[in-house]
Amino acid sequence: MRNHRHGRREFLNLTGAGIAALAGGAWPVAVMAADGQDTDLVVFNAKVYTVDSRAPKVEAFAVKAGRFTAVGTTAEMKALTGKGTQTFDAKQMTIVPGFIDCHNHAPGEVLLYEVLVGNPYVVEFVTIDSIVEKLRSKAAQTPPGTWVEGYFFDDTKVKDNRLLNVHDLDKVSKDHPVVVQHRGGHTSFYNSKAFAMADINRNTPNPPGGTYDRDANGDLNGRVTDRARAPFSRAGKRPSYTADQALKRTREGLAFISKQFVRYGVTSVHHEGGDLSALQDVRTRGELLHRVSYESNGRVLEAMIGAGIQTGFGDEWIRLGATSEHTVDGSFSERTMALSTPYPGVTPPYKGNVTETQAELNAWIERVHRAGIQVNCHANGDVAIDMVLTAVERAQKLFPRADARPKITHCTQVNDDLVRRIKATGTVPAAFTTYAYYNPDKFKYYGEEMMRHCMAYRSFLDAGIVAAAGSDFSPGPFDPRMAIQGMVTRTGWDGKTWGANQRISVEEALRVNTLNGAYNSHEEAIKGSITPGKLADFVVLSDDLFTVGKEKIKDLQIVRTVVGGSTVYQA
Ligand SMILES: [Zn+2]
Repeated sequence: MRNHRHGRREFLNLTGAGIAALAGGAWPVAVMAADGQDTDLVVFNAKVYTVDSRAPKVEAFAVKAGRFTAVGTTAEMKALTGKGTQTFDAKQMTIVPGFIDCHNHAPGEVLLYEVLVGNPYVVEFVTIDSIVEKLRSKAAQTPPGTWVEGYFFDDTKVKDNRLLNVHDLDKVSKDHPVVVQHRGGHTSFYNSKAFAMADINRNTPNPPGGTYDRDANGDLNGRVTDRARAPFSRAGKRPSYTADQALKRTREGLAFISKQFVRYGVTSVHHEGGDLSALQDVRTRGELLHRVSYESNGRVLEAMIGAGIQTGFGDEWIRLGATSEHTVDGSFSERTMALSTPYPGVTPPYKGNVTETQAELNAWIERVHRAGIQVNCHANGDVAIDMVLTAVERAQKLFPRADARPKITHCTQVNDDLVRRIKATGTVPAAFTTYAYYNPDKFKYYGEEMMRHCMAYRSFLDAGIVAAAGSDFSPGPFDPRMAIQGMVTRTGWDGKTWGANQRISVEEALRVNTLNGAYNSHEEAIKGSITPGKLADFVVLSDDLFTVGKEKIKDLQIVRTVVGGSTVYQA
């Protein structure tokens, strides 16, 4: 607690202690403000892109008590330097506000403890053999009848250039149920033992909202989509942990992923549920390096509604935001989203999976909206987005509430009428960010005509919609550099460009990934730009993202990540 005693957090030395002091202190801002008149930190000789239209580009800024206090020229800011002021000569490096990711599953536990059959962070191709090998060694340490699971599979990042199937997974084991989870979260691949234990065979019909996929002979091929996966969750044994073990895993997972976020310059993340109590523990221990907008579901959401706790409750580190994504349809990357026209080239004709009825959705949105909680629905296809807007329009008419900002997670495939209704309802989309670069290998399943209407940042911004960034990690990597490059170029890792009409400028992409993210959780008054009075969350980049060349944005180095004036990552 050295920093707390000195009344100042560390910028120059990498530390988590400042964060702990802030987290543990009762009134940290007041304590530090009363502590002396000196500015804590002056950063100068930088190219600072503030994302504040009043002073979009400056050379320098000052920080005190974890907030920006002034922006201006190097000379102006140096004049604010006192005896106790740390200074940082940025040597003409570029500084931007901390990046904000408005949709993230933050699966730290999976990253730390599970078998990863694909690369979570970057484009990497693997072989089916490597997947089988990894799962075999896991099976060797797993009692028969207990699940062997693989994570972060991506069907279009496989060197074999074919789908993983039941026969591949039968090579892993005949005694264990085996599943490979697609990183998209909507499809899974099972072995024969798993099908047997779940009592699914070639004659089992597809349930509503899901499919058991079949090969040319009508036999199960191993791929199971969306709601058809329910029987597997009831079959077989899974590893069990004592309450202490489970808590330890959760805490370590959160601390681990927090380090990954700041490594990529992400300073605020919207978490899809997770253990709220463990999250607070991690913060108390000084291991929470990024700020959290906690999106509740299940027990926590019910408790909020029951106790009258509304969106916005909490503080600058952990605040209750919108709900978790309430799922209305399938997946974009796994080609199960609900389209009004059939998927090109698929027989029999397939329009994706709607996973909820309009009546159920109306009731859910009405109940949450009435409780003063920001609704958040997962909707990818135009059919699902229409359903969400229908329910939102209904709820807003029945119970008008100013500035509710209903959130649509993904909001992938739009048309002019949907865009108009999104604007009219004040809806805030959190669309895919890294997909344009990461997933071009999947866009052929939709085709150029549909891709002109997908991840429609140009359409959103032109309509005055405050669109934000939602990586959807684990489905998408969360690297904001990859995100910005993809939004600006619409060109993928393979050099192919899709839906170039939806390109936005570097300036716009930066705003989408910062200030618009703050707006998404009603926090634009305290973060998202380098503005006096706002939290001092910023990122130092090796080079200028505006001049480096659009195809090189993803290769910029994150030199330093700073949250509340404290350095939480240093290259
Ligand atoms: Zn999601």
